Formats: sequence, C-alpha cells, structure tokens
Amino acid sequence: MQIKPRLLTGDTPTGRLHLGHWVGSLENRVLLQKQYDCYFIIANVQGFTTRWDRPAEVHQNVLDVALDYLAVGIDPKQSTIFIQSEVPAIAELTLFFSMLVPFPRLMRNPTIKDEVRDKGLGDNYPVGFLFYPVHQVADILAFRAELVPVGEDQVPHLELAREVARRFNQLYCGVDPHTEDKDYVARGGLFPVIEAKLGRACRLVGIGAPNADGNLLKMSKSLNNAIFLSDDPDTVTKKVKSMYTDPKRLRPTDKGTVENNPLWVFHEIFNSDKVWVQEAEERYRQGAIGDVECKKRLIDVLVGIIEPVRQRRLQYEADMQQVLAILQEGTERARAVTGETLQLAKQAMQQQYFYFRT
Ligand code: ATP
Ligand code: MG
Repeated sequence: MQIKPRLLTGDTPTGRLHLGHWVGSLENRVLLQKQYDCYFIIANVQGFTTRWDRPAEVHQNVLDVALDYLAVGIDPKQSTIFIQSEVPAIAELTLFFSMLVPFPRLMRNPTIKDEVRDKGLGDNYPVGFLFYPVHQVADILAFRAELVPVGEDQVPHLELAREVARRFNQLYCGVDPHTEDKDYVARGGLFPVIEAKLGRACRLVGIGAPNADGNLLKMSKSLNNAIFLSDDPDTVTKKVKSMYTDPKRLRPTDKGTVENNPLWVFHEIFNSDKVWVQEAEERYRQGAIGDVECKKRLIDVLVGIIEPVRQRRLQYEADMQQVLAILQEGTERARAVTGETLQLAKQAMQQQYFYFRT
C-alpha cells in the first residue's frame, strides 16, 4: 500500500467558520483529502490565548468548528479531525521547540502585531498569546506534515515551523546545514521542512469599514465582520445589505470605486458569472448601476454557496453523539501519530532513558 503524505491544518475555536475560511483554506482541504492523509486540528488551547475567561464559549466553539468541517465536506472516514488539548505530545514538543526560537524572533512576528492591534489586546495579553506560534509549530511538526493549507496571515508562523524543523534536523539529527529544504528527511532529518499552500483568496476582507490606516480588515471570526457558513438566507441578506461599499457614492448615478470595495472583492471571488462581474464593475465606475442591484446579485451567489452547507450542518447538529464519536476517534488517531513523533524526537535529542510498560 502506498503511504500518503500527511497534511496538517486547522482552526482556533473562537467562533463559527466563515467565507474567509472557505476560500482561504477549507476549499483546499476538501479537494486534498484523497491525495493526502489529512489531520485537522481544532486548536482549543490556542482559543484560550484570547478567551481564557470564557471556557464555555471555547467549548461550544470546538463543537461549532467540528460541525462546520463536516458540513463543508470533510469526510471523517478519510480524514482525521481532533482536539488539540487532548493530544499531550503536542504540548511536550512545544516546550522542546521553544528552546530553538530566539525570543526577539517571536516579537518580530507581523501576524502577532496585527492581531494585537486588530483584536484590541493592548499591552495586557498573556505570555501564552505570544507563545502560540511556537505551539503552532508543534501542531505541524508533531505530524511530520508535508503540506499545510492556510490563509496569508499564517505564513509567518509557517516560516517559523520551517526554521525550527531545519534547526532540529541540524542539531539533533546531524543533517548538513547546506541541505536543500526538500531533502532534509532523505538526509536523516526527522521533520520535513514544510510547504505552505495558500487558497485562491488568501486574505478575504470582512464586510466592515476600513481601519484607521485606511486598510480593509481581514474577515475574522472575532472581528464581527464575517459572513458565516452557517448563516441563514435572511442573515446573509442583512449582512450583504449592510456591507461597506464606496462611501463617497450616495446615488446610483454617482461614479463608484471598485478597488478596495468589499462588494466587488466578493463578486470577483464568489460570482462565477465573470462576464456580468466585469460589465457591472465598468457600469459601477460610470455611475450606471445601483448598489442595490449589485448587492442583490451577491446575495443570490452567497446564499447559493452557503445554503447547502448550512443544511448539512443542521443534519449533523441533530446527532451530536455522532459528532463527538468522530472527534474522539480522530483524537485517538492523532495521539498515536504524535506519540510516535515525540518518541523519535526524544531519541534524537538523547533524552530517552527507558521504555515505560504502559
Ligand atoms: P480569529 O479571529 O479567532 O483569529 P480567524 O477568523 O482569523 O479567527 P483562524 O482560526 O485564526 O480564523 O484561522 C484559521 C485558518 O483560516 C487560517 O489558515 C487562516 O489563515 C484562514 N483564514 C482566516 N481568516 C481568513 C480570511 N479572511 N481569508 C483567508 N483565509 C483566512
Ligand atoms: Mg486568526
């Protein structure tokens, strides 16, 4: 039997999943399930980095993310869905890996800086928040994954995972530092130097107004600017109607700006009628089409994508026992794979002293 390469990716349970997750990562995951041995992590410990005071919310969101996965077509017979906190080898590897990451390197991470600003964390966030990229390195390396499909904001974290993999392989497995990334395992390294795989829209914007710097924020579960894959048609309609567009355009006959306008960002990504989109954008620029018509079209497109997902979600929601059984089975598989990695890592670090009987 041919062994499939492993793929690892996942989500923080800070809410339900949205259209940004769909184009940024979920769509790729569904497509890659046959080719790769897929592991999807629900990173609940990471949920605590910003929700340490809201355990019930994190608990509910773990179930929400699992439901969303199943609803978009992640097949539990082919792929593994698991809960981070129930896989102790990840936490153990995090500690060892933290020795390989210089502290100033963590502080320079641009995604961390963006999150501190956009989530209003001020200067009072916990050590665990700053530490989560290292934890995420362990999530990935614990599976010795070769491919990681993510959105753009995750690229700095993946770079860290690549650096840690190289350093570990050089220091503890004796791999020559001049080795090319793709050859590390063939030269005796334990961890592949992973590849990121970006989705077709790696940073979908939210439906709200830009921030103080004039940039549109990314759609995010925790920024109150998302259209969720579980939103019903009425909610989708309301959200699209309230969507930020060109603020200078007061009447349909005013000339409009297409650039940096969520209405058109969404049409370009989700509307398969490319001819209409191109023509309508031109008419919008000239003041020859109203926002109302363009929004109505967008509502139809989005409801067409979201409604089948929502219906499948409702079916799973009616049988939460089944969902929990899927999570338990997946978590057991994840424990087996990561337990093996931890043993191999300890051997490489010369820190395996005995074999336990249990
Ligand atoms: P939070 O607000 O809690 O940070 P989030 O909406 O940013 O939540 P994450 O769980 O941090 O979602 O991200 C999960 C995955 O989805 C990551 O790979 C991330 O890059 C991707 N992703 C999240 N938001 C978007 C987006 N707007 N566009 C494209 N990809 C996204
Ligand atoms: Mg995020």
